[in-house]
Amino acid sequence: MTSRVIPVDPFDLVIFGGTGDLARRKILPGLFHRFCAGQMPPSARIIGAARTDLDHDGYRGIVAEAIEEFGGNLGGKAQKLKDFLDTVFYVTIDAQGEDGWPELQEFCKQKDRIEAFYFSVSPSLFGDLAERLHHWGMAGPETRIVVEKPFGRDLATAKHLNATLAAHFSEDQIYRIDHYLGKETVQNLMAVRFGNMLFEPLWNSQYVDHIQITVAETVGVGGRGEYYDKAGAMRDMVQNHLMQLLCLIAMEPPARFAPDAVRDEKLKVIRALDPVLPHHITRGQYEAEQGAEKQHPSYREAVGDPRSKTESFIALKCHISNWRWAGTPFYMRTGKRMSARSSEISVVFKETPHSIFGADAGRHRNVLSIRLQPNEGITLGVTIKEPGPGGMRLIDVPLDMTFAEALGDDSEHVDAYERLIMDVIRGNQTLFMRGDEVEAAWAWTDPIIEGWESRGEVPKPYPSGTDGTTDSHELMRRDGRKWREVSP
Ligand code: NAD
Repeated sequence: MTSRVIPVDPFDLVIFGGTGDLARRKILPGLFHRFCAGQMPPSARIIGAARTDLDHDGYRGIVAEAIEEFGGNLGGKAQKLKDFLDTVFYVTIDAQGEDGWPELQEFCKQKDRIEAFYFSVSPSLFGDLAERLHHWGMAGPETRIVVEKPFGRDLATAKHLNATLAAHFSEDQIYRIDHYLGKETVQNLMAVRFGNMLFEPLWNSQYVDHIQITVAETVGVGGRGEYYDKAGAMRDMVQNHLMQLLCLIAMEPPARFAPDAVRDEKLKVIRALDPVLPHHITRGQYEAEQGAEKQHPSYREAVGDPRSKTESFIALKCHISNWRWAGTPFYMRTGKRMSARSSEISVVFKETPHSIFGADAGRHRNVLSIRLQPNEGITLGVTIKEPGPGGMRLIDVPLDMTFAEALGDDSEHVDAYERLIMDVIRGNQTLFMRGDEVEAAWAWTDPIIEGWESRGEVPKPYPSGTDGTTDSHELMRRDGRKWREVSP
């Protein structure tokens, strides 16, 4: 099935931090894909702006290398790449000084287009950039800015960051990226919930036993040790990505699929979250792996701190205090060096109230699984009769909708970043976090982290290549439940 591509209006996208890791890995390859798909109009321009001293051609070399390394299969696209590079420019700029701003101002003089500025730099520079964009007259009422996580490290810093941006831009100009929201399946979650009659009547504590959200990675902290050790899984993953998934699963149907209608409902979910009790949360740090083939350092070795108290794994149970979800537990876990790379949300329905097939048939539950990666897709586990003679034995089989198979290859290639950048140009904020959402998420997260700190809690070790601490399994076992298998 070929997807319909609607070109966006002409735009200039300035990427502050255009030579950095995020720009090379995600933003530039994403833009190239949209260019190849015919979504970028020929007059659109991409202007890299960073500290490194480069001219336009020097930067085009960096962009070409990034696309070759991270842009997937380029077979037959040599001319496209050449054409794309013609849309790329560069300005050497100092976010905290005056160098480069007159040159950038010159670029931004064309008023016949949408102007977007991607702040792909450390958040400590957001204020400097916002201020200078105003000072140099580059920020009009239609200008959009895109900011990346981490959006603060607690409520106070998030408020400060929001206030810094609000001093120069209104909320409808600020696009806070959480790339999980750009994933095809995450949007499909909303389509499945609100586009079908089938699920909505069952989507509540009367029929749902519990919900599990797992985001498992096989990698360790790698070269990000210094950053990660100051954040940990709670700040790096739960406060943003897992929280956003929880919101989409739990929110009430918005009246319209429109930015504030959706974001208002998400905010209500976060505000209805109960505080998490200390014994409903467990943290871990991965141990070294010293197999014959693989040798990986432990978390503490990787971050260079033998006494680090930062978690590389977290599992928790939380409750949403509202009519729909009262009494239904939401379990979330995420970690590094787990057994497989897998992100999945599972809605586990209750057992039938009575089994007409007798005790031997076993007890069965429908599970709706929304797989974010790998193999994006949705599976509904249904109970049927095991084929063949020999009585009524029941088995669970999946009704599988793996998108790559169901929709053809096209659906695979639109990466979250490309979709979100095009949404910025279209001026659609539905899949971006609003400032009050971010603050509400920190208001829920802060007491949890403060609790660990005040109690001096240290994460428990877990072997690399496993699914986290034994306590996380105990958390489920105590409730008579089990984590779903982390399958690749
Ligand atoms: P990076 O260190 O690789 O790149 C930083 C960029 O900022 C470089 O282009 C550098 O030239 C530029 N820069 C630094 N100081 C500057 C200054 N004074 N003036 C102008 N330019 C300056 O960082 P990154 O990994 O690309 O991350 C960028 C942002 O995105 C960070 O906030 C990071 O937390 C966030 N982020 C990154 C990733 C990722 O995968 N790399 C993922 C999520 C969020």
